[in-house]
Amino acid sequence: MSDGTTGPPPTGVLAVGAFTAGAFPLVARDDASAAFFDAAARGELLVRRCLDSGDVLGPEARTCPGCGSARLEPFVVSGRGVLVTWAVVHQVPVSVLRGAVPYVTAVVELAEGPWLLVRLVGTDGSDLRAGQPVSARFVQPHQPDEGSGADSGEAPGEVLPVFAPGEPAAVSGQGES
Ligand SMILES: [Zn+2]
Repeated sequence: MSDGTTGPPPTGVLAVGAFTAGAFPLVARDDASAAFFDAAARGELLVRRCLDSGDVLGPEARTCPGCGSARLEPFVVSGRGVLVTWAVVHQVPVSVLRGAVPYVTAVVELAEGPWLLVRLVGTDGSDLRAGQPVSARFVQPHQPDEGSGADSGEAPGEVLPVFAPGEPAAVSGQGES
């Protein structure tokens, strides 16, 4: 999948038990997002790169805004970046996020160039400053249990990339065999 691209340092997938149940929505893949979520499950952040200009673009890009080309390739980035701006969300914007508030949403500039709108974890937003280093983490959401406490048998959602202040951390592997 990432043939010829530079490999990032391996990062682990955080069990979402480190976060409140419902902190992350269950996300289902479609054909367009399948490669993105396959990469996330490996601890890789997959975006796109323009084959004509070399511009690195966001994962959702369909054409290159720089040169107009639609010849884009999958491209694994380092997961390193800097914080551009952020907001602390207190009011639930959509019902699937009712277990998540308050949370921090942020714009991050990747080291490779593109800006991404991301969830920022590991902070309540009070200690942030523009330009500080941030890096990707990967979380595995589970269906919040409605009371039983036992495994509901519900399939977990896709592994989701999020960002946290600081450099990439070596995560002690949980859940991955
Ligand atoms: Zn281009």
